[in-house]
Amino acid sequence: VVRGSWAAHAVDDDVRFRGSSGGVLTALAEWCLANGVAHAVIGAGPDVSDPRRTVPVTITSRPDALAAAGSRYAPVAVGSHSEAVDPSTAVVAKPCEVAALRSLAALTEAEPPLLLSFFCAGTPSQQTTDLLAERLGGSGRRVRELWYRGRGWPGSFTVRTDDGARSMSYEDSWGGHLGRTVQWRCRVCVDGVGEFADLVAGDLWHVDDKGFPLFLGADGTSALVARTERGLDVVRRATRDGALSLTEVSADDIMAVQPLQRTRRTTLLGRLVGTMAGGRRVPVYRGFGLGRLALRDLRATVGAARYTRSRLRADGEDPGTRSGRTAEPA
Ligand SMILES: Cc1cc2nc3c(=O)[nH]c(=O)nc-3n(C[C@H](O)[C@H](O)[C@H](O)COP(=O)(O)OP(=O)(O)OC[C@H]3O[C@@H](n4cnc5c(N)ncnc54)[C@H](O)[C@@H]3O)c2cc1C
Ligand code: SF4
Repeated sequence: VVRGSWAAHAVDDDVRFRGSSGGVLTALAEWCLANGVAHAVIGAGPDVSDPRRTVPVTITSRPDALAAAGSRYAPVAVGSHSEAVDPSTAVVAKPCEVAALRSLAALTEAEPPLLLSFFCAGTPSQQTTDLLAERLGGSGRRVRELWYRGRGWPGSFTVRTDDGARSMSYEDSWGGHLGRTVQWRCRVCVDGVGEFADLVAGDLWHVDDKGFPLFLGADGTSALVARTERGLDVVRRATRDGALSLTEVSADDIMAVQPLQRTRRTTLLGRLVGTMAGGRRVPVYRGFGLGRLALRDLRATVGAARYTRSRLRADGEDPGTRSGRTAEPA
């Protein structure tokens, strides 16, 4: 469901700079706190005692919001936070966690928190972060700060130790390392676009003539989609109050610059069939029209099934634990 879709960025320059793309989720967190929409925002951020780790965080102030800004490409269970089911909070979480929180609220007949999410290409393994931290920070050096991107668009994977900061480009960190260790569950994920969120943000990349993202280092711009009336109301009020700057774009325009999100659902049936043929269990999805989508590109679907089955057979282990190719950058 799309109730509104925009190119968006935080009006506050610091928030826009710190954010992964346009700083929209950070601006919304701050606005929710300032306007009594939420007494706290639950999100993810670096563990203060070991910034290589990502942990659920409670955001109750602007400094908290800025400290949590930027995507963390590592495992974290925001939904495990005790306040993630509290209707007086807002929650920023992966689409799968948001779907779970909404289902839980329906099951218990409770009002869900305001649910904010982001487009998601998958969660890489923690080991990859540790490896990159060691490579950039040096073996045995205490990591003082680690961020994956943001502070520019897309920004760089950066590790700061007492000896200074060293970075790796987003193309290298995601394309060469993180994106290759995305969990197997993410490869059979049906919803990377936050269908169950009130609001979902992603990168509104500039793209080449084939639709592939160009990383130009421009000021960040997010794609923002309202999926519920509640989300739409929050966007309207936050914009009226000067927190967000919006330009309307169509949902098709957004999907045109998200090649991975565009093709992953079309070929998902193939990956599910290939997974079953490889002797594994798969999640059950209803109501996503996977059969109809698969028919649109039967060749790609059959290719995905064959590739998945052969990979599973070759592995004989959880393929999510070994390196593999992720089609496009996040
Ligand atoms: C694992 C992952 C995969 C992604 N894949 C894609 C993709 O395929 N396509 C795409 O367009 N965008 C993807 N993104 C989203 C993108 O990186 C930005 O989050 C999005 O553009 C919103 O940017 P922003 O500047 O508005 O958010 P910001 O203002 O930077 O706010 C980010 C918010 O997200 C929260 N957060 C960060 N990491 C996590 C996490 N792992 N789990 C839960 N909450 C978190 C923070 O607490 C913060 O509140 C992905 C993000 C992640 C974390
Ligand atoms: S790709 Fe899907 S399953 Fe994986 S973390 Fe993202 S939303 Fe969850």
